[in-house]
Amino acid sequence: MYYNHLSAADPTIAKLMKGEEHRQITGLELIASENYVSPAIMEAMGSVLNNRYSEGYPGRRYYGGQEFTDQIEQIAIDRAKALFRCEHANVQPHAGAPANIATYLALAEPGSTILGMELAHGGHLTHGHPVTHVAKIYNFVRYRMSDVETGRIDYDEMREVARREKPKILLAGFSAYPRELDYKVMREIATEVGAWAVADVAHIAGLIVGKQLANPFDAGFDVVLTTTHKSLRGPRGGMILSREASTGKLIDKSVFPSFQGGPIMQMVAAKAVAFQEAARPEFVDYAAQIIANAKTLAATLMERGARLITNGTDNHLMLVDSVSSWALSGGVAEKRLDEVGITLNKNMIPDEPRSAMDPSGVRMGTPALTTRGMKEAEMAQVADLIHRTLSAKDDNVLPGIREEVIGLAKRFPVPGISLPAGDSLA
Ligand SMILES: *Cc1c(COP(=O)(O)O)cnc(C)c1O
Repeated sequence: MYYNHLSAADPTIAKLMKGEEHRQITGLELIASENYVSPAIMEAMGSVLNNRYSEGYPGRRYYGGQEFTDQIEQIAIDRAKALFRCEHANVQPHAGAPANIATYLALAEPGSTILGMELAHGGHLTHGHPVTHVAKIYNFVRYRMSDVETGRIDYDEMREVARREKPKILLAGFSAYPRELDYKVMREIATEVGAWAVADVAHIAGLIVGKQLANPFDAGFDVVLTTTHKSLRGPRGGMILSREASTGKLIDKSVFPSFQGGPIMQMVAAKAVAFQEAARPEFVDYAAQIIANAKTLAATLMERGARLITNGTDNHLMLVDSVSSWALSGGVAEKRLDEVGITLNKNMIPDEPRSAMDPSGVRMGTPALTTRGMKEAEMAQVADLIHRTLSAKDDNVLPGIREEVIGLAKRFPVPGISLPAGDSLA
């Protein structure tokens, strides 16, 4: 991209942003929560909408001059409702974590209990990790996998815990679980104990609207919340969807004025653009390719002898036990792969024997590489590059692997970024 004004006004920042562009073009992005947005979404994000204050909701604002912003937010809302097939959407959460907090506070009194997935079994920080504020506000209790070889969740245990603990919210959702949850059974359990059924689909939203994974609303879930920037491939942000308009009223009030201030209107516009992209037939092909790519990446790693938690994947991500696979901690594996331009993150595995700072595994996912147009053949090549990097006995081989990574990355451009003529990819 060309930063004409920025380069003149602040060359220091412009240069660093150029560096990041170069890193993205020449590297292979396997962070399961990352993606590349379209140039159209980029334009919406970097726009005059930043200049507005629009506290409130369309038609009910605290500031004048909302002729255009009201229409933009209403279109975002309507597109979100159509995508997820529900009665209500709040598109104002600044990110996923605020969407989680606003949902909890809308539906459960402080001090009440929330039943969510065990964090080391795939649950997210925002589902009550001890370091979070919400863990001090709510009493979090857990369900987990009964078998890490298959990823099976013990729904009998979940029902038992729900009967005993009487949660106000039964929370589905994860950021490191490679299988699907049984939303029907979870809905039944929530109904039995009088809990709201809430799904946090931050990671898999794109796979749901791309018709590859189940939509929790089809099982009767009350609320589905998500980020908009992961597999959904939109701007950074969050949103909260409600099956019924009456629940949506509680959510709206909780997001504003109870929790957030003004919406970030350029992100609301960019969400609208992303929802239109996600409604196209091509997005169904994209979502299917994400999963096909993940299955190939997982299968090829396993052929090379890697140990995957649950022995594979049904979605876009996989969790690899790097200690068993290559005798490297997750932290060391992450650093070694950084050196060759393959980006992923260290991650805890179920019943983690090491520490959160240097756990036993790495997580990887395919949404970003799939956006670049890579398919099964490239995934097999990526798996091979990872395996060779992590099993190398000698650092001398790393520069050669780095060249191969650049060669592969070069063939698949990043949307919206082109290198100026003469810029080398070294
Ligand atoms: C990423 C994620 C979040 C948090 O989203 P942020 O935009 O980083 O705040 C919440 N829940 C789940 C399940 C996630 O994967």
